[in-house]
Amino acid sequence: MKIALFGASGFVGSNLAHHLERQGQHDIRLCDIEDKKLRLRFENRSFDYEPVDISADTDRVDEIVADSDLVFDLAAYVHPAMFISNPLDVVQLNFFDCLGVIRSCVRHKKRLIHFSTSEVYGKTGGSVEPFREDETDLVLGPIRNQRWIYSCAKQLLDRMIFAYGVEHGLNYTLIRPFNFVGPLMDKFSKAWDRDDNPRVFANFMSSLVYDRPMMLVDGGLNRRCFTYIDDAVSALQAVIDHPNETNRQIINVGNPANETTIKGLAEMMAALYIKEFEPSAHPSIESVASQDFYGRGYEDCDRRMPDISKLTAIGWKPKYGLEETLMNSMSYFVNNKTRMVEMLGD
Ligand code: UDP
Repeated sequence: MKIALFGASGFVGSNLAHHLERQGQHDIRLCDIEDKKLRLRFENRSFDYEPVDISADTDRVDEIVADSDLVFDLAAYVHPAMFISNPLDVVQLNFFDCLGVIRSCVRHKKRLIHFSTSEVYGKTGGSVEPFREDETDLVLGPIRNQRWIYSCAKQLLDRMIFAYGVEHGLNYTLIRPFNFVGPLMDKFSKAWDRDDNPRVFANFMSSLVYDRPMMLVDGGLNRRCFTYIDDAVSALQAVIDHPNETNRQIINVGNPANETTIKGLAEMMAALYIKEFEPSAHPSIESVASQDFYGRGYEDCDRRMPDISKLTAIGWKPKYGLEETLMNSMSYFVNNKTRMVEMLGD
């Protein structure tokens, strides 16, 4: 197949592209506004990259879609810090610009694999059940809590893609990722910057490497299921390989066995860092109020656990436990720090 990836140089895109290229089964075309993470991930291997800005190069997007058999839409702003600092940009890219890619897929009748988000589920509303794609209510906080603008924009797009399936026969799969971590997950951050904070794994990693406190937002009591990127990529491969079973489906991708509180994550990362990387390190962990860390308008998802029965039904299951997930991810960051900082800054 000819597979086009829009947003190919993000965290998921660069790892997926690297996998597809090594697998060598398909002709892949990598499109993004820049190729830094692709260059890092591919190291000395060559790749077929084209600079494409989905917000401006709409004719080119349309041509690429027309010339593809399968389109991945991975373009997104995904950092909660940004939902508060730049909410309108978040809607522009995650909703309006992605809508252009989706409409091209409708126009040219191309199969689409679009990245939704587990943020769409919002808060648990007190339920202890894992999130189910077709059953769970989507529970968001009030408008002034800007954290939810991303979830809301992504939810509307999910609903439009569903409607394009019903009204125009669009063939699609919506992917709901649950806290993927691994190589090139965000970047290092030397000093904490409220408006440009990486997500929790990269921020904790930066704290360890730059010897600054790991900050637990509101005590770090909320829970996430951290999923190793190789497991995520193999789930995407399973989706590619099962077009009929996954068509017009929403699919959670995550590892429910890897659930931890954020405090638990900090403690595990600190212990692994001392044991495996820097025996003389003295990591410190501090609590910080969410209002101070993110600013006004932040509200957290209390717990986020996927039901993964749709994926297990097509033969996928996650392989990496929490400790291995963190070890592999931390090891990439430690071993590639200089190149990452050179290319992505800190
Ligand atoms: N968090 C934290 N310290 C940090 C960054 C994030 O305690 O340095 C918390 C955040 O409040 C949330 C969880 O970690 O409860 C996961 O945050 P992340 O930014 O990774 O994204 P999310 O899972 O909320 O989309």
